[in-house]
Parts: sequence; structure tokens; C-alpha cells
Amino acid sequence: MIYCVEDERNIRELIVYTLESSGYSARGFESGKELYKNLEQKLPELILLDIMLPGEDGMEILSRLKNSEVTRDIPVIMVTAKGAEYDKVLGLDCGADDYITKPFGMMEFIARVRAVLRRTGKEDKNQAILEHGKLQIMVLQHQVLVDGKKIVLTLKEFELLKYLMENQGIVLSRDSLLGHVWGYDFDGETRTVDVHVRTLRQKLGACGELIETVRGVGYRIGD
Ligand code: CA
Repeated sequence: MIYCVEDERNIRELIVYTLESSGYSARGFESGKELYKNLEQKLPELILLDIMLPGEDGMEILSRLKNSEVTRDIPVIMVTAKGAEYDKVLGLDCGADDYITKPFGMMEFIARVRAVLRRTGKEDKNQAILEHGKLQIMVLQHQVLVDGKKIVLTLKEFELLKYLMENQGIVLSRDSLLGHVWGYDFDGETRTVDVHVRTLRQKLGACGELIETVRGVGYRIGD
């Protein structure tokens, strides 16, 4: 879970949207007051803090977070406008983990978020992302992206792809796929697997060829 404090609604919504489309759960708040209320319910893995806020500003919120034993270890990224505000933050070594200047590009933004989560060891365990080239699976969200675009899959197609991705480099037999995805007491034929692989390849477009047929054995996604 990532919290974002930003009073400008458009930016707040963009940030939450960007995080969610990259597989993170995120919540936006318009003030420190709202943030504190939610911190009592659940501590996030990361907080994004705007500086210019009505009431308590981002710097004050940051120092309050860093002075509390409960919230001290939550990494913080300051989101600042270019110019004076940014210089001010850089000038004060205030304990933030990183700074992002507005306006920012989506890719850069996510890369910074990921880097901080990785560096601080806060990568959400529930936040499994399986990746192979341009193919990404957000396991919790049941979302599949090819080159950043969402692909709609049926539940079985999703499970099949996930199982292949979890076992990259390993050839999985039709029986094993059938057992894992459809359940061992499933009364169907191994042909079911072939049919699903075919539609899965079509839906994945450019990434379809990642699923290799291993003649006489089954399927594999290479590593
Ligand atoms: Ca603001």
C-alpha cells in the first residue's frame, strides 16, 4: 500500500492511477490530517508527500513522521514543484528518501517508486509482479500487461499464464498444467490446455511467442 498526500485533485488522481496501473495499491489524501487518520488504520510501505499543502505542509508532515517511532521507518518521497520549492527541499536534509519534481513522466515516476521500495526493503510481499520482457503480471490484481497495455484474460487463461511464468525455464507437461490450473480432479482432456494456450498466445500478441511448445511434452516460458 502506498499513500499519497497531494491537495491538487488532478495530480493526486494521476498518481494513484499510475501506481495502480503498475500493480500497487494506493490511496490519495488531500491533507496531513487525512493521512494521520489513515496511518492509525494501516501503515503503508511508502508515502508520497507534496510540499505545498493547506494546513500543515509537506516538510512539517515529514518531520512529524520521522519523529514518531511508529512511522519513522516508512520511506518518504517528496513530490515537489520545480524551482524554489525543490531547492528548499534539497537544501534541507530532511530525511526523505527521494524527490520527484512535478511535472513527471509516468515511467520515471514508477521507476523512482520501485527503486525506493527496493532500497528500503519495503517491497510489498503481496505485490508480486512477474515479468518477462514486455510481459508483466500483477498477481494480486489479476492484471496482465503487454508493453504497458492491459490484456483481458479469462480466469483459466490467467492462471495458466501465471503458472508458466512462475516456472520460467521449466517445461510443464499438459497433465501438470491441467492439474494445477483446472484441479487434479478435473475430468477434462489435455486438449483443453492446448486450446487455452492457443487463445492465450493470440491475446498476448507480441508476447504470445514467449509460450513455447515443447513437442511431445508440453509448454514452457523460457528464462
Ligand atoms: Ca500542492
